[in-house]
Amino acid sequence: MDTTPVAPHSLQQTPDDEHLDRAFQSFVSYRFRLSDIDSHTVFGLIYTDMALLDIVIAPHPVLRSPCQPVSTFDSQLHKLLDNMYESMVASNGIGLAAPQVAVSQMVAVIDVSSDAVEQPKIMSLADIDPAQHIYDKRLEIINPKITQSKERVSSEEGCLSIPDYRDTISRFFTVTVEAQDRYGRPFSATAVDYLAFAVQHEVDHLHGILFVDHLSRLKKTLFKRWSMKNLGSDTV
Ligand SMILES: [Zn+2]
Repeated sequence: MDTTPVAPHSLQQTPDDEHLDRAFQSFVSYRFRLSDIDSHTVFGLIYTDMALLDIVIAPHPVLRSPCQPVSTFDSQLHKLLDNMYESMVASNGIGLAAPQVAVSQMVAVIDVSSDAVEQPKIMSLADIDPAQHIYDKRLEIINPKITQSKERVSSEEGCLSIPDYRDTISRFFTVTVEAQDRYGRPFSATAVDYLAFAVQHEVDHLHGILFVDHLSRLKKTLFKRWSMKNLGSDTV
């Protein structure tokens, strides 16, 4: 999911942010040329070995395939999560699902650092302290299931896999998601507002559903025209 107009102006990119993004991306490439070991020191700072992944653009079959559940919570999964997070940030997104980086597994990351997802982000957590599920201001949901949802509202959304298209759809304002963290520990979180929309958007991805599937019939017709022109296909 990308940033949406419901976000405060502070979230919008300024030329400075763009400059920083470019600088960050070139630094990441530079870092990768330096070494392929797991972690290393550059200019006195320790970095883990992360890579920016290519975001899959619709239409692509991986975006339409239901994902496989994750059963192994190992370093490979952690690396995927870290790389997905970096790729999401570099693309100015606030959520990213594994099929969007061509991995058909039930894994998604959501940025919870922005003002748009201000408190209460996580209203209740069963089992474990919420802090244990948020790494560096990210929420990681593995094998997620939405178990409760309340109150339909309009939500304007975009998707990194359908660049430059935004539209308003209907979403639940409050959802409870049951998932596992990167170590396989089960947790349950109730999200509201912007975070709830992001959770629904990302969980949809894991079932091969794109946000444009929720458009009204009239809007779908308009989207098909847009899609033909911009993505070279009237079906995504
Ligand atoms: Zn998306």
